[in-house]
Amino acid sequence: MRALTVIPGRAGSAAVVEVPEPSLEDGPILVRTHAVGVCGTDEEIVSGTYGWAPEGEERLIIGHESLGEVLEAPAGSGFKPGDLVAGVVRRPDPVPCLACGVGEWDMCRNGRYTERGIKQRHGFASERFRIEPNFLVPIDPGLGLHGVLMEPASILAKAWEHVERIGQRARWAPRSVLVTGVGPIGLLAAMMGQQRGLEVHVLARSPDGPRPRLARALGATYHAGEVTDLPFHPDVVIECTGAPEVVVAAMQQIAPAGICCLAGISSGARRICFDGGTAERQMVLGNEVLFGSVNANMRHFRAAAEALARADRGWLGQLVTRREPLDRWQSALQRQKDDIKTVIDFTL
Ligand code: BGC
Repeated sequence: MRALTVIPGRAGSAAVVEVPEPSLEDGPILVRTHAVGVCGTDEEIVSGTYGWAPEGEERLIIGHESLGEVLEAPAGSGFKPGDLVAGVVRRPDPVPCLACGVGEWDMCRNGRYTERGIKQRHGFASERFRIEPNFLVPIDPGLGLHGVLMEPASILAKAWEHVERIGQRARWAPRSVLVTGVGPIGLLAAMMGQQRGLEVHVLARSPDGPRPRLARALGATYHAGEVTDLPFHPDVVIECTGAPEVVVAAMQQIAPAGICCLAGISSGARRICFDGGTAERQMVLGNEVLFGSVNANMRHFRAAAEALARADRGWLGQLVTRREPLDRWQSALQRQKDDIKTVIDFTL
């Protein structure tokens, strides 16, 4: 079968190659891939700056945002042929640490976790893949291709869950959320803010275009400009750009007792000048919280499935802006103006 692979650490090595049929070691459920979403992490892996091949292998099959249809499932697995599904990305470390031991692999303490399509485990960008039933999530068939948003949505379901858990440290009744960034992660964060009945503000650079329009279509107020120019202090910030100057501005803009979740992954390539002392003073005197959030466990995938099922189908349908067949993977990984989510569509 064909798969999109890369030699991790080597730019220019990405290629569609013939690989053996998926190994039973990956799990008893056989899935036919419908689509795989691409994101910044895939761009990093393909550019040779992130990603690890499975032990003893040279190439890694990429793809961690999956959508597929079950072909084979053992009786009693909870799945049957024809089910629409998405795979969970991370697997617990072998020790396991305190968190992995209770199924919270997204909080792994020793870094020995593995991730499909990213870290030491083949991903889902192959015509077929195998998987364990307890790392597979059913998708509402009505979602169709948009079920490919399950993995990115799980990232935000976790971010929101942790914001809410942190909020419980004292009496808390948030009213407003600021989402920075208006890509798929920002838009899904805003959608979940709106589902919580919050006053949603989205801030990004583009003054207009499909992304701001989608933010406004949620009922959010869209701001094009600087965080520090905003005329209010949000109770919650979900930072989805990873841009250092936006991160610093966002943490300084939060309201007293506010919570700022960093969900965007910075490239780490740019340095900025930052008055850490003044920022620290403000955070302490305001009981403010700044925290990072990555990955998702089964609880978050389930919450994401509920959020997607509750979302307006017409709105959700506008998030996948480009579908490319497998042999046009290079074009899929090349960002174009007004792209939101691009997917490699294995059915084309
Ligand atoms: C994925 C996460 C993963 C992270 C770091 C993200 O793109 O969505 O599941 O944990 O990259 O590897």
